[in-house]
Amino acid sequence: MLAGPMNTPEPIPPHGRTLVDLILPEREAERAAEEAEHLPKLTVGKRELSDLEMLAVGALSPLTGFMGEKDYRSVIEDMHLSNGLTWTIPVTLSVDQDEAKRIGGASRVTLVVGGHAIALLEVDSIYRRDGEAEAQSVFGTTDRAHPGVKALRAAGEFLVAGTVRVIKLPGHTTFQEFRLIPAQTRAAFAERGCRTVVGFQTRNPVHRAHEYLQKCALEVVDGLLLHPLVGETKEDDVPADVRMRCYQILLDGYYPPDRVMMSVFPAAMRYAGPKEAIWHAIARKNYGCTHFIVGRDHAGVGNYYGTYDAQRIFQEFDQGELGITPLFFEHSFFCRRCDQMASPKTCPHPDEDRVVLSGTKVREMLRAGRKPPKEFSRPEVAEILIEAMAERTR
Ligand SMILES: [Zn+2]
Repeated sequence: MLAGPMNTPEPIPPHGRTLVDLILPEREAERAAEEAEHLPKLTVGKRELSDLEMLAVGALSPLTGFMGEKDYRSVIEDMHLSNGLTWTIPVTLSVDQDEAKRIGGASRVTLVVGGHAIALLEVDSIYRRDGEAEAQSVFGTTDRAHPGVKALRAAGEFLVAGTVRVIKLPGHTTFQEFRLIPAQTRAAFAERGCRTVVGFQTRNPVHRAHEYLQKCALEVVDGLLLHPLVGETKEDDVPADVRMRCYQILLDGYYPPDRVMMSVFPAAMRYAGPKEAIWHAIARKNYGCTHFIVGRDHAGVGNYYGTYDAQRIFQEFDQGELGITPLFFEHSFFCRRCDQMASPKTCPHPDEDRVVLSGTKVREMLRAGRKPPKEFSRPEVAEILIEAMAERTR
């Protein structure tokens, strides 16, 4: 066999080595849509629709549908699928008892969103969720005040497992030009000749600290994928459209366009801390990232996880098992004595030299229409956040 030219980047293989595509070609989709009319219907909620969208485009490769009991058990007990592949968060479709009865013996059901048939599900089995064990495994707690536990408890107690074939995903009205699927981000990296790409997950507005981490990472790899999560988040998280406007400022003015790309990550937030950090990393590998930034308290909420738990969990896997390389970062800040961005790893100075503001303090300032210091937030970004706060109050 002939080797390719030296400069052809070898893309990172997807998780399980196959990039899944569950979207039916046009003809088959038409036939499936006709069939869908005569099958039992199952309405899919917002969170599960996010998972379905991720399944459809291969972001959750090698999964081809909602998990059966064997995988579900294996994931919550052992952080692996039953075939041995790393996986930390169950991907399931829940129904309540009445719905479970209604679809009972059906071998195929139609998944519906807003009255439209979006997919066919080949029902493999219906089983009972182990809510206690799942919450304890995924979130490390069964406390119902935890947003992930709360969502889990509000969902049905039965899970429908099976392969999915997608007729048509609901159209998006937001971030159209940033809805790249894994096959597209992979193609875009290849086109730019990026051998190594670091993914950055975020559900927060971008301050100088995030920019610094991203640029530190970009000093050692070829490309950066800004991959803000736009699925369901908590009420008090900054809305996705506002976060996207902040990123646009950075892309337009402060990032090299040939090395930085932005696309949205359609996942819903679980707030599962360490387990979600692994899950996020696996999904980014499917998008073609070779590296993934893991900050302190990644995907955390409240005080449920230790500061470094989401970094430490990576040690529990054998080398090469994940395939994607995590890059661990400390909180960073501007230091007036160093006169630059730094972190506790690089700056020897005491707290009073460092521009550090708590999230609460920043929200307070923005609500009062005051910009945080420019060492903390770029003024153009602060303006967007102030405006968004004012809109929200109105
Ligand atoms: Zn310093």
